[in-house]
Formats: sequence, structure tokens, C-alpha cells
Amino acid sequence: MTLADRYARVKASLPPQVKLIAVSKTRTVAEIQALYDLGQRAFGENYPQELRDKQPLLPADIEWHFIGHFQSNKVKYIAPFVHLVHAVDSTSLLDELEKRAAAAGRTIGFLWQARIAREETKHGLPIDELSTMIQRSAGSTRWPHLVARGLMGMASNTDDTAQVDREFAALAELFRTLRASGFVDPERFTELSMGMSSDLRQAITHGSTMVRIGTAIFGERSRT
Ligand SMILES: *Cc1c(COP(=O)(O)O)cnc(C)c1O
Repeated sequence: MTLADRYARVKASLPPQVKLIAVSKTRTVAEIQALYDLGQRAFGENYPQELRDKQPLLPADIEWHFIGHFQSNKVKYIAPFVHLVHAVDSTSLLDELEKRAAAAGRTIGFLWQARIAREETKHGLPIDELSTMIQRSAGSTRWPHLVARGLMGMASNTDDTAQVDREFAALAELFRTLRASGFVDPERFTELSMGMSSDLRQAITHGSTMVRIGTAIFGERSRT
């Protein structure tokens, strides 16, 4: 299958309200340009320096999503142009993002990352801790250049589809609860970023609004 075939197949599987983020980590500028030429505009990257190096070589109207985990000291590489930061799991990261957004004269949207997978991972916060952090930050004037746009999560990498269902259901429930709670602005807190190549359909069933797809569009990666 060609890139165009794979892209068409992924797009055909998405309901119109679900946004496709093409995950282009490790892909060359030429590969990204080829997908752009097929019409894709939203791309996701995981590594700040890689994104910083690719961005100026590609069309200016690409909407760049930062989907990886990163240290505060790397925020400066992407703050001047990034559209949405998907994986925020600490207020210290928000403090740094705020500083860099202000310096760039921009307002930057972000998603809180929940840790829903069973696997051991340092990234994201367990649902109850995340809920507490969001409630504590509600109404804060500490981040005037940032806008909380929703939640992001990654399900376990497993063939156990019931497990993946439980994880997506838990994230979707937190999303609904928060939107109804008054702790977030439901007009702006509208995005639920969940679903990758392997669990795209399940994520959609549970109400995903953004899917992050790499392999199913570009093919297997030689490194992660
Ligand atoms: C790599 C990555 C993806 C895409 O994974 P595929 O399996 O290639 O679709 C999605 N989200 C995050 C956070 C990633 O790191």
C-alpha cells in the first residue's frame, strides 16, 4: 500500500467530528511533505529538538501538536509556533510553558495527561490525582497565556481489548465529569485526545475528539 492508500483508509475510518493528528516522529521532512501534499495539516511530534529542526523546513500553515513528554528546559524550542501541547502532567511544566508563551507573545492550548495504562510509566497523572490538580488550578491567574483545552491519555499496549475499553472509559468519564463540574470552562475544554493506530476504533467508541496516528499512515517506524 502507498502512503495515499493508508492515509485514505485511516481518514475513512474517522467520523467527521474526530480530528486526525498525523504522528510524524522519526519521519523525514520529505515524508511529512508528501502527506501534506495529500491534504493533511495537523502533525504530532514527540521530541522538542526534532520538531524545532523540522518546522522551518515545512509549510508554515502546518498545525504542530506536541504529543511527547518533555522536560521544562525544552519548552523554549517549540513555544514560538506549537499549536497544542498534549502531555501536561505538572504545574511546573505549565509555569515554564507560561513563561515561554508570554515571551513569544502567544496563547498556547494544552491538554492534561492522565495515566490510564496498566503499564509502569512515569508519564501522566493517575485519574484521581489529575482531577485534584485540575480542581486546585481552577480559576488560577498564574497562567494567563495558557488555555486548558482538555485531556489526553494512552491506553495499555495489550491485546486485551476489555482492558483498553476500561481505560478509555475511565478517561472519558473524567472528561465528562470535569466539563460538568465548573472547574473547567466547557466552551474551551472540549478535546479528548485518545487513540493510536492500534486502538483507534475503541477510542472513537468512547468519544475521542482527536486521534494520534503514526504507523497506520506512515508504516512501521524503525525507532520509537
Ligand atoms: C508514537 C505516538 C503515537 C502514534 O503511535 P502509532 O502507534 O504509530 O499510531 C501516538 N501518541 C503518542 C503519545 C505517541 O508517542
